[in-house]
Amino acid sequence: MKGKADNLINRRFGRLTVICRAGTNGGHSTWLCECSCGERLIVQSHQLKTGNTKSCGCLRRDLNVERGRANAFKGSDLKNIIAGWWLGQTGLTPSEIQARINAGWSLESALTTL
Ligand SMILES: [Zn+2]
Repeated sequence: MKGKADNLINRRFGRLTVICRAGTNGGHSTWLCECSCGERLIVQSHQLKTGNTKSCGCLRRDLNVERGRANAFKGSDLKNIIAGWWLGQTGLTPSEIQARINAGWSLESALTTL
C-alpha cells in the first residue's frame, strides 16, 4: 500500500459515508461524504481519520438535545425541558432563555433566536 493515496470510498466515519474523491485542498485529499441525515459535505482525509469530523454537524446538535433532556429530567422542570430542546435547535442556553423570561419576555419570544 506504500505510496498510494488512501481509498476511503464507501468507508464509514461516524455518520459519514465517503462517496467519492473531491480533489485536494492545501495538499490534503478531500472527500465528498454523505451524512446519515442526508446532508452532503466535503471533508479532508485527516479530519475523517482522526475522528474530528463524524457528521455534517447534526451529531453535535443531537448531543446538545440529549444533554438538554438529561438536565431537564434531573430537575423535572418543564421550562428546562423546553430550554434544553431549544438549546439543540437554536443554540440558546437555558440560562439565556431564563434571563429573558425573568426580564418579562413571553415564553415564545424568549425561545426565538434573534
Ligand atoms: Zn448530518
